[in-house]
Amino acid sequence: MKVLFISSEVAPFSKTGGLGDVSGALPRALVQRGVDVLTVTPLWPTVSPDGLEDAGSVTLQFPFGPVTLTLLRKDPFVFLECPPYFERDSLYGHHDDARRFAAFSMGALAASQRIGFQPDIVHANDWPTGLAMLALARGFSTSSLKRARSVFTIHNLAYTGSFSKDAMTDLGLPWELFTADGVEFHDHLSFIKAGLVYADALTTVSPTYAREIQTPEGGHGLDGLLRRRSTALRGILNGIDLHEWDSEEDPHLAARYSAATLAKKEVNTHALLDRFGLKAPKKNRPPVFGTVGRLADQKGVELLLAALPRALDAGALAVVVGTGEARFVEGLKALQRRYPARFRAHIGFDEPLAHQLEAGADFFVMPSKYEPCGLNQMYSLRYGTVPIVRAVGGLEDTVVDLSRAGATGIKFRDYAVHALELAFDRALALFADPVAMNEVRLQGMSRDFSWGQAAAKYEALYASLR
Ligand code: ADP
Repeated sequence: MKVLFISSEVAPFSKTGGLGDVSGALPRALVQRGVDVLTVTPLWPTVSPDGLEDAGSVTLQFPFGPVTLTLLRKDPFVFLECPPYFERDSLYGHHDDARRFAAFSMGALAASQRIGFQPDIVHANDWPTGLAMLALARGFSTSSLKRARSVFTIHNLAYTGSFSKDAMTDLGLPWELFTADGVEFHDHLSFIKAGLVYADALTTVSPTYAREIQTPEGGHGLDGLLRRRSTALRGILNGIDLHEWDSEEDPHLAARYSAATLAKKEVNTHALLDRFGLKAPKKNRPPVFGTVGRLADQKGVELLLAALPRALDAGALAVVVGTGEARFVEGLKALQRRYPARFRAHIGFDEPLAHQLEAGADFFVMPSKYEPCGLNQMYSLRYGTVPIVRAVGGLEDTVVDLSRAGATGIKFRDYAVHALELAFDRALALFADPVAMNEVRLQGMSRDFSWGQAAAKYEALYASLR
């Protein structure tokens, strides 16, 4: 089985969120199962040039002009080099994104032909790769890709890759496709629709999110299309990368620990508090709440800002690491001014600190409005840190509430400040009972979120398409 895997971000080379993590780990897990995977991704400035081998180039002809991409190979990866498009300080959000990601999508297919890789499956991810699905379905490509079947994975449906309809002409797409059943979305060209409409199979990153996106509440305007394609759509829960996220091996931690040496987690808690200049006694210290993530509406930052005072007033400490919208940065700074001895925010993307927070916190808070899968709650479970989550998407699928047998965390349902406050109250009560707290931590640590299970499901899906 040969799989061409196309993604705009692949950890550890590039990452803005969960897409990068998944695109790094899933192909690796597939390879371990004996699948032959070639991963194609842009050569971003963050990719180290070490060991890259020149594998020729491809030139694509667009109505706006030719685009040449150089293929740099480092098995099992092919990086597409195109300085005018990919040598930028941010991956997305540029005026020419339609051209950039059309070139990437078409370039990835052309690269596989150039290299002589004949895939059984082309697996594309999120809007930046949507046009690859359209190209395959419409026979835009030449014969060596003709027998390939296609899989498109939705990591986040909210990002639709929508561009002015002029892009249809600019990219040379046939206007007959500009319909509600095709790539038209609110009178724009939508790259994600090219994936959703034309891929042979659709997946998303958790079973609950697969259901939610078929409803008007969770469908971002695409629920009708997804209901029509429901037999082609399934949810496969992401795994986590246990090379990166293993509390026993994690190089970023002040003290490494496992379920058998859980007491050593305490060293990380004090290291985290020291790092942030927060003081706590060694004995009978207060609980530490934390979170890491994009400061975006999706993540429920407004709920967090409104509900945290309840926990802080009750004596808890809290730290937040994140980057994103200015209004949330302001909100966090204001909270820090109000609670200088209890609350700290670090604004920035800091991978080591994310690990230190996972290891040091007692509770990890994810009050998301929606959450396709979410990775941090699974990292938390591995690290003996109790997740407090809103019961949506992958959060619903991965955390077992305190009220249930085998509890691993705390869940709340309503997207409301009061609901999160009540969840914090339950957390404080749990923390006050060290035996119960320990049991919940250990239960979480025993869960298996390795990529092996997910990879087996993807492999079965590929096989069913052949
Ligand atoms: P999303 O993809 O919606 O951003 P996920 O939970 O699926 O959310 O994945 C986010 C990933 O990015 C996690 O690995 C998380 O630790 C990481 N991350 C997000 N923001 C930061 C940050 N400011 N510093 C370090 N890591 C971050």
